[in-house]
Amino acid sequence: MMNFQAEVFMQGFRLGSIFDFEIRVDLSWFLIFFLILWTLTTGVFPGNYPGLSSATYIGMGVVGTLLFFVSLLAHELSHSFLARAKGIPVEGITLFIFGGVSRTRMEAETPGDEFQIAGVGPLTSLAIALLCGFLWWVGRNAGWSIAVNGVTAYLATINLMLAIFNLLPGFPLDGGRVFRAIVWKITGNYKKATRIATIGGKVLGYAIIGLGLLQLFGGFVLSGLWLIFIGWFLINAAEASYQDLLIRSALEGVPARELMTPYPETVSADLSLQRLVDEYFMHRRYEGFPVSEDNRLVGIITLNQVKDVPREKWADQTVRNIMRPIENGVTVRPQEKMSQVLQKMEECEVRRVLVTKNGSLEGIITAGDIARWLRRRRDLGEVMS
Ligand SMILES: [Zn+2]
Repeated sequence: MMNFQAEVFMQGFRLGSIFDFEIRVDLSWFLIFFLILWTLTTGVFPGNYPGLSSATYIGMGVVGTLLFFVSLLAHELSHSFLARAKGIPVEGITLFIFGGVSRTRMEAETPGDEFQIAGVGPLTSLAIALLCGFLWWVGRNAGWSIAVNGVTAYLATINLMLAIFNLLPGFPLDGGRVFRAIVWKITGNYKKATRIATIGGKVLGYAIIGLGLLQLFGGFVLSGLWLIFIGWFLINAAEASYQDLLIRSALEGVPARELMTPYPETVSADLSLQRLVDEYFMHRRYEGFPVSEDNRLVGIITLNQVKDVPREKWADQTVRNIMRPIENGVTVRPQEKMSQVLQKMEECEVRRVLVTKNGSLEGIITAGDIARWLRRRRDLGEVMS
C-alpha cells in the first residue's frame, strides 16, 4: 500500500519468508484483520446476500479476509520484486494497520526506476480486481454458489478501491511516488520533487480528514473516524519521509569528526557493573561509554547491556564480561562521511559509534549528537528550508 522508509513500522514479528523477502506482521495488523472479518461477517455479506446461514457468513468472512490480505501481500511483493530487479536491496515486507510496507534500504536512483517500482503496486491490485471480477462473472453465469460469488465480488471491489486509493497523488502513497518521479524527471531535482510531492501528500491527508469529518457529522461514526485516522497518518508519513530526506542530504558530505564529541570519558574494563552504574550511569548524562584497558580501547558498554544482567550479579560481573568488543563494535574513521556512518548505525542497529584513528579513540557519535547537530543547523537557518 505504502512503501516508504519508516523505521517505526519495522517492529512486529516474523511470519515467514516468501522468495527471500521476510514477511513481518505488526501487532496493529490483527486489529484491522478482525475489524474486516467482523464487518464482512456481520455487515457486508448478510446485507448483500440475505437468507444464508451464519456459518456460511463466517466462512465467507474468513476466506474473504484472508484473500484480501493475500491481495495486499501480492501488491507489496510486486513492489519488492521490481525494486530488487533494479538493484535496490529489499529486506522484506511488513503488514500493519494501513496495509503493507516494503522495507528497502535505499530509494530508487532514477525517476524512471521510481516510476516503475511505485506504479507496479496499483497495477497489481488492478489486475487482481479484474481477475476476481472475471471469476465473479463466470461464477454468476455458471451458477456457482452465492457464497463463492459473494467473495469474488468483494475481492474485485476491494482491490479496485486499493488500486484507486494508491493512485491518489499523495506522497508517500504509490501515486504520490509516481507523481514525484514525474516532477523529478521534469525538474531534474530530487529534493524539490520530494518537497512538491510532500505538499501533495499533506493536501490529500487534509482532504481525507475533511471527508471523515463530513461522514462523522452525517452519522457514520466508524467510517468517519477511520478516514480521519488515515488522513492524519498520511500527513505524518509525508512529513516524516521529507524530514528523512532533509536529514540525509544535510549529513551527506559531512565528516564524522565534525559531529563527534571529542575525547569522551572512558571506563575501565575491570570495573564492576555495580560501580559502573553507581559512578557513571547514575552521575553522568551518557548512556554509553568507551571501555579501555591499559590505555587501549577495547570496547563499548551501554546502559541497555547492563539492564540485561540481573541486578544481583552486578557486583561480580565486570564491564569486560558484557561489553561489546571493539572488533564487532562499530567504529568509524574521523574523515568518514556521516551518510556512511548513519548507514552503519542502521545496519548494526546501534545508537552510538566510536570514532577511532589508528586504534586510538578520538571521539564518540550518538544519535543524540546527530539530532543536536541538525537542530543547531536548523536554528542557524541552514537546513530544513
Ligand atoms: Zn503500493
